[in-house]
Amino acid sequence: MSFLDSAMKRFTNAASRSVTCPICGNKSQQTASKVRQGQALLCPKCKSLFVVPR
Ligand SMILES: [Zn+2]
Repeated sequence: MSFLDSAMKRFTNAASRSVTCPICGNKSQQTASKVRQGQALLCPKCKSLFVVPR
């Protein structure tokens, strides 16, 4: 198994939650731990970086 495979598997297995982009309103699945820690998330639709307010 390559490094990329294991990295992808870990990413897929990570808990995710649905967030709504404040710029375009697109809903996407983001890593729950990133959301919880207030890290910037990338909207797959408009490519904007945003932080989900608590
Ligand atoms: Zn967006």
